[in-house]
Amino acid sequence: MTTQAAHLAADHTETRAQALEVLRALVGRPDADFHDGQYEAIEALVDGGRRALVVQRTGWGKSAVYFVASLLLRARGAGPTLIVSPLLALMRDQVAAAERAGVRAMAINSANATDWGLVSEALAADEVDVLLVSPERLTNPSFRENQLPALVQRTGLLVVDEAHCISDWGHDFRPDYRRIADLIARLPASVPVLATTATANSRVVADIEEQLGTGVFTIRGPLARESLRLGVLRLADSRDRLGWLLTHLAELPGSGIIYTLTVSAAEDTARLLAEAGHVVKAYTGRTDTMDREALEEALKNNQVKALVATSALGMGFDKPDLGFVVHLGAPSSPVAYYQQVGRAGRGSANADVLLLPGTEDAEIWRYFATASMPDQEKAMAVLTALGESPRPMSTPALEARVDLRRTPLELLLKVLAVDGAVRRVSGGWESTGQPWSYDEERYRRIAQARIDEQQSMVEYERMSGCRMEYLAAALDDETASPCGRCDNCAGRWFASDVRSSAAEAAGESLKHAGLPLEPRAMWPTGMDRLGVPVKGKLKAGELVAGGRILARLTDLGWGNSLRAMFAAGAPDAPIDPAMARAVVDVLREWGAAGWEGAGRPVAVVAMPSRNKPVLLQSFAQAISEIGRLPLLGELSLEFGGPTGQRGGNSAYRLAGVWDRFAVGPELAAALAACPPGPVLLLDDLVDSRWSITVAGRALRLAGAEQVLPLVLAQAG
Ligand SMILES: [Zn+2]
Repeated sequence: MTTQAAHLAADHTETRAQALEVLRALVGRPDADFHDGQYEAIEALVDGGRRALVVQRTGWGKSAVYFVASLLLRARGAGPTLIVSPLLALMRDQVAAAERAGVRAMAINSANATDWGLVSEALAADEVDVLLVSPERLTNPSFRENQLPALVQRTGLLVVDEAHCISDWGHDFRPDYRRIADLIARLPASVPVLATTATANSRVVADIEEQLGTGVFTIRGPLARESLRLGVLRLADSRDRLGWLLTHLAELPGSGIIYTLTVSAAEDTARLLAEAGHVVKAYTGRTDTMDREALEEALKNNQVKALVATSALGMGFDKPDLGFVVHLGAPSSPVAYYQQVGRAGRGSANADVLLLPGTEDAEIWRYFATASMPDQEKAMAVLTALGESPRPMSTPALEARVDLRRTPLELLLKVLAVDGAVRRVSGGWESTGQPWSYDEERYRRIAQARIDEQQSMVEYERMSGCRMEYLAAALDDETASPCGRCDNCAGRWFASDVRSSAAEAAGESLKHAGLPLEPRAMWPTGMDRLGVPVKGKLKAGELVAGGRILARLTDLGWGNSLRAMFAAGAPDAPIDPAMARAVVDVLREWGAAGWEGAGRPVAVVAMPSRNKPVLLQSFAQAISEIGRLPLLGELSLEFGGPTGQRGGNSAYRLAGVWDRFAVGPELAAALAACPPGPVLLLDDLVDSRWSITVAGRALRLAGAEQVLPLVLAQAG
């Protein structure tokens, strides 16, 4: 430490003056001053060398704390700051803001992995003040072994952004974040650490503090946001909720976000609103990165009235004057809801926040909750497969050994990697040989916590007290008090009527159905292991043509009826005539689009069904009668029919249906007597599409000229 630096460090008034100067450069306003707690956090880091946790609402200015602290520490001779931050979008904004204030920032994430040479040179020349790293990068073995140790030795400050992700109890726990606890443990004790989050209840705070070490300096600000006007409007169904949006969207202030729970709901809603002349766009996990950036810009510049988004429009998005947030369906916890509505009204005096709950919300929450929990049996199967393999196994190779889809399989591998039982190496994954046990108690507690959160969200919808106070209290904010602005404090501030023409338009749009069914063209890898002698592409003579699906189970329109029809324990009943008419409309449009170039179908064939024979037969009969096409019959089930469950991975699904469908003698004869042309192959529900592919292949091999699949519902 130089004499000058020692002098500065000793003089707190001097620190404050310097900090203020840096802050003013950072925000570009000569009169800017610190908010409550900002300077205290900087002082704890810079003069105290402490570990600090800042829990403050979004927009409070957490990034000002770490950039100001970084520059002051650098002036005192410290090494660069290491910021671990989860979203590339967030990094982009942070880097731009920092550079304007003279901070030399660089980012390393999975997208620019090859630039390490450049980063490394800049670090060696001491030309980097702040290095941003994605949590995923920390799990990269080569980064951890070759680059991280040197970085840790030189780091002047470690910042963990969105630190609630560290905690099991955080609503958004990510396995990658468990690496951060290791990282903190490896830091010299004198290196200050700053963890920041906008959303943490007491349990999460305690958990983060424990991981930060001893003597943690915690600042918790009030979470209530005075600019927000909260409200809940309970409407009968999707038709009314969409009708409400059609009626009132234009009256909402400025531009904003309409959140939905599923991708299909976002797409359906955006389509309906756009058809009615509203300037809106869908933004979901299916939107590609380039388009996402353009859409975010369009919203920031008020070029759209709203983005209709899933939670994919997340942490990194910042528009201080966002005018409104409307939810079509509630998120599964008050924390998640608070985080999404907290995007509004940061830099403006007023923003409207309205929740339109849906009757199907709870069902959707349950679906996502079970999808994200590791499963003991599957974990053991992964460990056994890796333990038996002499070589590392790729993810597709593991899919032929463990019945899990790609995303849950990757999540499970991450959990096992963080627990030290497996590691990623070149060529895939290998076992470390370390024993692993399933922490049943821990997962049971987490599952119970999720159920409690869902219950508090239901309570939020039904309560008569202050909604902001309730949300703040749910986050253990002790300063929570009635807001005087929400619908329960000040009376209903939004119109509740639905224009009848709007409801009709919504109803029409919801009835509209028909999605393409992409046929399978490639066999999964590793099928020989599962006793199925296929690989590579399907042969031309075995392929089915593209098809049509009435709707997804998650669609706003037909989704409700379809989910009820396929719910566990639902009776097997003939097809609802309205649904049959909707299928006929789908067929008409399909015909107008040219039947995939295969020509008009000449006959109907049904899939065999063990669970819904009445439904399928009535469906086939209806289509045969209305379309005046002969019903040739149905395929027969071989070897007891398909095995395994829906929802497994592709390889297992194929193995479960392979050689289970056959063209019996009667069907073969009917097919032979039929005029040449394609046949419609009818099924009730598709998931992996292997049943329809294998059955269609059997029909092709039995002489069908072409097969056009027509299905009522798609799962997932
Ligand atoms: Zn209130």
